[in-house]
Formats: sequence, structure tokens, C-alpha cells
Amino acid sequence: PKYVYDFAEGGREMAGLLGGKGANLAEMTRMGLPVPPGFTVTTEACRAFLAVGTEPDGLREEVAEHLARLEQATGRRLGRPEDPLLVSVRSGGRFSMPGMMDTVLDIGLNDESVLGLARISGQERFAWDSYRRLIQMFGRTVMGVDGEQFEDALAKAKAASGAVLDTELGTDGLRRLVESYKQLIRTETGEEFPQDPVEQLHRSIGAVFSSWNGERARVYRKREHISESLGTAVNVQTMVFGNLGSDSGTGVAFTRDPATGQPGVYGDYLSNAQGEDVVAGIRNTVPLQDLERIDPASYRRLGECVRLLEDRYRDLCDVEFTIERGKLWMLQTRVGKRTAEAAFRIAAELTDEGMISPDEALGRVSGDELVRLMFPRIDGTAAGAPLARGIAASPGAAVGAAVFDSAEAVRRAAAGQKVVLVRRETNPDDLPGMVAAQAVLTSRGGKTSHAAVVARGMGRVCVCGAEELTVDVEARMFTASDGTVVTEGTVISVDGSSGTVYLGEAPLEDSAVLRYLETGVAGPGTVESVDRALRHADGIRRLEVRANADTPEDAVRARRFGAQGIGLCRTEHMFLGERRRLVEDMILAADDTGREAALDALLPLQREDFTGILEAMDGLPVTIRLLDPPLHEFLPDRTELAVRIATSEASGGVTDAYDVQLLEAVERMHEQNPMLGLRGVRLGLLVPGLVAMQVRAIGEAVAARVLAGGDPRAEIMVPLIDTVEELRLVRDEVEEVLAEVSARTGVPVDCPVGTMIELPRAALTAGEIAKSADFFSFGTNDLTQTTWGFSRDDVEAEFFSAYLEKGIFKVSPFETIDLDGVGRLVGIAVREGRETAPGLKIGVCGEHGGDPASVHFFHATGLDYVSCSPFRVPVARLEAGRAAL
Ligand code: ADP
Ligand code: MG
Ligand code: MG
Repeated sequence: PKYVYDFAEGGREMAGLLGGKGANLAEMTRMGLPVPPGFTVTTEACRAFLAVGTEPDGLREEVAEHLARLEQATGRRLGRPEDPLLVSVRSGGRFSMPGMMDTVLDIGLNDESVLGLARISGQERFAWDSYRRLIQMFGRTVMGVDGEQFEDALAKAKAASGAVLDTELGTDGLRRLVESYKQLIRTETGEEFPQDPVEQLHRSIGAVFSSWNGERARVYRKREHISESLGTAVNVQTMVFGNLGSDSGTGVAFTRDPATGQPGVYGDYLSNAQGEDVVAGIRNTVPLQDLERIDPASYRRLGECVRLLEDRYRDLCDVEFTIERGKLWMLQTRVGKRTAEAAFRIAAELTDEGMISPDEALGRVSGDELVRLMFPRIDGTAAGAPLARGIAASPGAAVGAAVFDSAEAVRRAAAGQKVVLVRRETNPDDLPGMVAAQAVLTSRGGKTSHAAVVARGMGRVCVCGAEELTVDVEARMFTASDGTVVTEGTVISVDGSSGTVYLGEAPLEDSAVLRYLETGVAGPGTVESVDRALRHADGIRRLEVRANADTPEDAVRARRFGAQGIGLCRTEHMFLGERRRLVEDMILAADDTGREAALDALLPLQREDFTGILEAMDGLPVTIRLLDPPLHEFLPDRTELAVRIATSEASGGVTDAYDVQLLEAVERMHEQNPMLGLRGVRLGLLVPGLVAMQVRAIGEAVAARVLAGGDPRAEIMVPLIDTVEELRLVRDEVEEVLAEVSARTGVPVDCPVGTMIELPRAALTAGEIAKSADFFSFGTNDLTQTTWGFSRDDVEAEFFSAYLEKGIFKVSPFETIDLDGVGRLVGIAVREGRETAPGLKIGVCGEHGGDPASVHFFHATGLDYVSCSPFRVPVARLEAGRAAL
């Protein structure tokens, strides 16, 4: 294979082979921009190198050939004493990994050529400074000497000559420093700093290749989901010098402001400096605009280059440039990173400028960016030092008084106070408190813990797993690792976008985008850009977007956010709160009469719930799921009950007979593995009257809405089906009850009856199930649990981080759908379901419905809709549009 490409041979389409930096240097060369000449050693060479640990056959020769051409072009030779060619060796993989791998500058200097460089530049000090930089960079990255030691030696040299700044160190001081650097390398490695420039070059290339596997780079790739197998390219490039005096300098520029998206060149400049100095922050940079005054010709030339780049890439670009004695050189460019706000603005403005189409503009923004814009933010710079750091589980920022249990959160919130619910971890009982709180903070659990999932679903801010905090719920306080004690009522601030917690009230910034989504009123700036992207997405997407909502309030919000119906209305929340007693009565009932009485009491309450939701979603489908969780979830905790009974016995009081009955029931209904136990459709088939009550409530709500002039579109969904027989039995009962309601009310009530597909068996027998189902809805949470054999609540806290660490998966299958396993089951069910029933309506409800990557999969698999929490609806709309591009 060909391992080396001259910059003039490549182009930006070759980023896989040449790496991003190399491909873009080639592109700039092709465009005729002033790029110091050089060549790129491919990622393929890197992979070959890493496989065997040495340069692959032929590489040395190819490098020599290209080097010879470079020498010819520049009229200099690597290491020639009188006028040496100097080069940099720069890493650069397919995806940018800023600062993660190594670069060596000034290769080609040695004891002789340093004198030549001094002569041709006319600057002795500069030559010696370059030499000591080379030894320092080479010593650290190639020879493995601890960088600190060079810094120490530099500090000593400065002290010896009374210098404060690096720049105050004179030629003699630098000469002595070079000697002590060489000595350092000798003592540390037992080797000499290599004087042979070709050896310097090859060892640097090898070191860059090896840095691909360095600790820093690996950690970065894991976090950014960059594949381990890509490898990095190496760019060998003629050095240019920004540190030759006040007519030289170096800087970075963006074609637009990457923070706000505002058009116009933006950047920083540092005169008399080399590339690394800008980032190292040795001296203060000046705004790029100042270059117009310092060197108007170079400024104009830079402006031209930057415009050409934006035209070519049709996007925001950033560049590194250097001016050597009034001549501009372009050292790097790429499509630049930007904030979410800038992403939307730039996409809209490039469309207006006729540079990109609306489709392309939509491709340039993402659901994740939209999420970031929906939440208020803490102004991190103004906020001071954080109290603790945890996992950024649900973005946004909130300020409130710390409270330590759900009841207190509800009480204070009702009194108009803003609160942050602090728990070690949360469970379903904390739900009212989570609803009441501005934010949830836990000291345990990961990104998919109960706190995180529920908070994200509700759009609550959440930081979880803040392990430095010791939470003492009983004492109503927590202690930070610096000893700060936060008691109940103390105001704290939580930033769920960064995972930080602050003492006191941190300054917040409001989200204009959320206000727009809630009111539908577009405004100028970011909001207008977001509005345009969303409207375009709505115009081209095939997937419908529905919301998961159980209350009229959520339904109203979902509708404002653009939901086209409810894809999952859970009925279990309607069994909580003060209705618990009725549910307990139903469970404890000794006979049919008792049970019927309890169910009769629940009926009107459920009917009111459904009526409210159907009214809020008038004209749109509302998929109501029959009761799903095991009944004992509605009973009190076993230990709590036992303790209550024991205490009252011990104190000689009368034991509450009801408590004893409850405890019996709890013990009777105890399951080893409730997730796989008596729940879902099984409950409906085994608890007499339950399905009938729920269906009656739905039917009567529909009838009531029709009589009120509404357009109710209830759909009944049966959870946890394993086999078509279960569905048939339930369906018979549903139809019977609806017929009875129709007869009684005089309103013909006819609801589609469908099923969830959330067990592997259901997916595999979907062809049969489709015979009895009017629609399918994938419950991908349970389908993931049952396909992997993971109990989500157990595994996430226990070992998911280890699994992620070991690379067993790159992202939790509960966050993004597992294509190979769960995704395959979804594919089978869609195909076989529609073979039986062409046109079968199929959707998905559950966390994955609002996850961008999963939305793309559902689009590709031919689903009709996704359903997600109201706050994710705009995200799903946007991503469904992007999936259709
Ligand atoms: P990174 O990817 O970490 O930015 P680079 O390869 O871009 O590393 O190089 C580090 C610094 O050295 C940059 O500021 C770059 O502009 C500068 N640099 C690299 N090669 C040269 C060169 N041939 N001449 C002058 N400066 C260079
Ligand atoms: Mg760079
Ligand atoms: Mg389920």
C-alpha cells in the first residue's frame, strides 16, 4: 500500500486515510492557500505500525522519497548545517482529539544546525530557543522523560540568570539550558539526545503512532465514542516561525463566532510567538481585530482565506495560522465545534445566504443541542467553586432549598418555596417530591438510576451519584467533602448539564427556547433558528411523535410541544395517593362483593382521569395501557409494616387489625422477581373485575366526551403479552364491556385494542399476535430487560459502569436501543406483524422514543410513531426529521 501522501495529493474527502488534519491541509493546498509544504503518513501505516510495533515495510523508503521532494521544494535539507530544513511532526486522526496526542516541533535541529538556523534567521536567541523546545518536546514525547523535569530545569535556568518570563532568558542562558536538558535525558534514559535529524524524524513518527494508545487518548475516545481501531495519521510539515519578532506571530480564527454564531471573523492573536504559546497562555492574546492595525496586509489575506474556506466547506471553520515576517501561513483548518445556540443560528443563516439547503441545515443541528437550549443554565464563571460534582443526569439548572424527603418537598413547594430534593437515591415513593422540586440530587446511582430516568422524563434537573456527599436523611442534612454541612432549608444550586452543585444561589440564565416551545410564539435570534429547524423537520418527517402522559396537565404541555397524541398513558399513577386505600381494599377483599365494592369506588375516579386526558388531547389518539405493575407495589413496605405492628405490640397498644391483614397480603404476594411475576396482562387475567373496571372507565369517559361534543380517540393497550391467547382473552372482555357501555350510554364506543411488544416471545410470535391486535407498541424498556436478562434497577447501579469501562457496550442499552439484539427483535416483529396485517399501526413508547440515535433506528425500521416524555417531544420531532433526510 501507499503509506505517504504529499499535501498536494490529498483532499478533504480522504479524512479516513489522512486523518482530519492531513485531509484539510491537503484541501487547503489544493485551494491554493498558503500552506507550508509537507506530507502525510496514513492511518493505515499507523495501524500496521501498532500491530507489529515497528515501521511497516516500505514506509521508511516512502518517507525518504517525500522528504527529498520537500527538500527540493524548499531548497533546504533536513539537518544541513548551513540552512537546515526544520519540520513538525503532527498527529491527526479521523476525528479531532484536541491535545490528546503529541506533536513535535523544530525537528532537524542539532548542535550544528542550530548555528545555521541562527545565521539564516539572523537571530541567535531564537535558534537556541527553538533547539531547547525540540529537546524538551522530543525528550518528553519520544524518550519518555517526565515533562515536569524539563520545567524544573527551565525554572532553574531562569532563576540563575534573573529572568522572570521565558522570553527574558537570553542566548547564553538558553545555551546552558540546552546542556542541562541533554544531561537530563542522559541521566533519565541512559541515552543521548539523537543528533541525526532522520532519526529524530522517524522516532517522532513512531511516538505519534504510539500516542494513539496513550492513556489520555484512550480515555478521550471512550468518552467520545471514537473507535479504538482507527489509528492516527502523522503530518510532517515544514516549520514556519511566528516567533521571529514583532512582525511575526500566531493565532486562531473562526469564520463566525462559535459561541453565538454571529457572522464575522473571530479569534485571538499573539505576536512574536509560536503555536503552542497561544494555548499555553504564557502571554495574553489580543482580539484578532487588532491584527488589522498590527499587520493590515496579513489581516486582509487571512480574511480572504477564511472566506474561501467557508465557501468551500459551507460551514463554520476554525483555523490555526502563523505569520512569519509579514507572510501569512495556514497551519490547520476544520469544520469548527460550536455551542448549541451557534449551531442553530449558523444553520439558519447559511441557508439564508444560499450556501446550504434547508435539508442540509437540518442535518447540522441535533436533538442533543436542542435539549441544551431548553434548560436554564448556571453561569459557571460567576458561580465560584462547586460544593460537589456528580453525574450530569438531566440537564438544566435550578436553585432551591435543600429538602430531604418527598413530603417536605411537597409541603414547601405548596407554600411557594423552590426546593431541591436531596436523597441517597430515589424510588417511586419519592415521585411527588420529585414533581414538586426544581431539581433532584442524589449521592448514589448512575445516569440511568431511578432519579435520573424519572427526572429526565419530567424535565427536572438532576445530578446523581454525587459520591462526595454524605447524605443523612434522618438528620436532614448532607456533608460535602470539604466539610461544609448543608441542613434542611439551605439554598443550593444544581447544574444538571455539568453535574455540579453549588452552595447558595448561583446566577441563572433563562431559556428563551423553552418559552417559545411552551407558547408557540417565535422570537428573534436563537428562537427563530430553532423554530425554522423544527418546522422543516415537521414538514419532512414520516414518524409521528406522541407523548407519554398520564395527566391532563402533561397532555396539555405535550400538545403545546407538538405531540400528535399520547402513545402511552400509564394507569398506575392513578392508583396512588389517597386512592391507595381503595386499591388496598380491592386487594384485601375477602370475596367478590368486597372486591366489586372497591372497584366500583375506583371506577368514577379513573373515569374522571380519562375524561380529562381525552379532553386535553381532543381529536388525537390516546393510547391507554391497562394496569401493568404487580399489585404489591401499591401496598406498604413489608418491613415498615412489620415494624409498625411490633412497636404497637411492644408498647402494649392495640394492634391495628387492618395492618395485620395488610402484612398477610404483602407476605402472600411477595415475589422473588416481581419484574417477571404477576404483572401486566397476567394481572388482568387473574384479578377478577380489574380489566372490566378500567375498560368501563375508558368507555364511559369516551361516551361522556362524545356527549360533550368532543372527539375522543381512546386506544386500549394490553401490557406484557407473551402469547396471542392472552390478548384474545382480554380482547373478548374489552369488547363485551364496551358493548355494554355503548348500550347503556347510547353512544357507540369502539376503541382499537392493541398490545405492547415487550417480551422476546411476543416479538418472535408477532405474526400470530397481529391477528388479534389493532396496533403494536414496543415497550423497549422491558424488551431490553428481558432480552438481555438485566434487571435495570439492579444492574445500572451495580455494574454498568464497569461494563462501559470494559467496552462491553459503548452506551447503556437502556439509553440507546441495542441494534444487534433488541433492534433485531423489533425488526422481526415489524416484518412478521405486517405480513399478517399489512398497514398495522406500530409505535414505540418508553425512554428510547426520545433518544436521537434510537429515533433514527425506528424510522429506518418503518415504525409509524415514537412516543416519549413531553419534554423530549421537540427533540423527537427534530430527530425524526433528520432521520428522513
Ligand atoms: P494540536 O492538534 O494539539 O493542535 P498541532 O499539530 O496542531 O497540535 O500543533 C501544535 C501547535 O504547533 C499548533 O499551534 C500548530 O499551529 C503549531 N505547529 C504545528 N506545525 C507547525 C509548523 N510546521 N510550523 C509552525 N507551527 C506549527
Ligand atoms: Mg492544532
Ligand atoms: Mg413494560
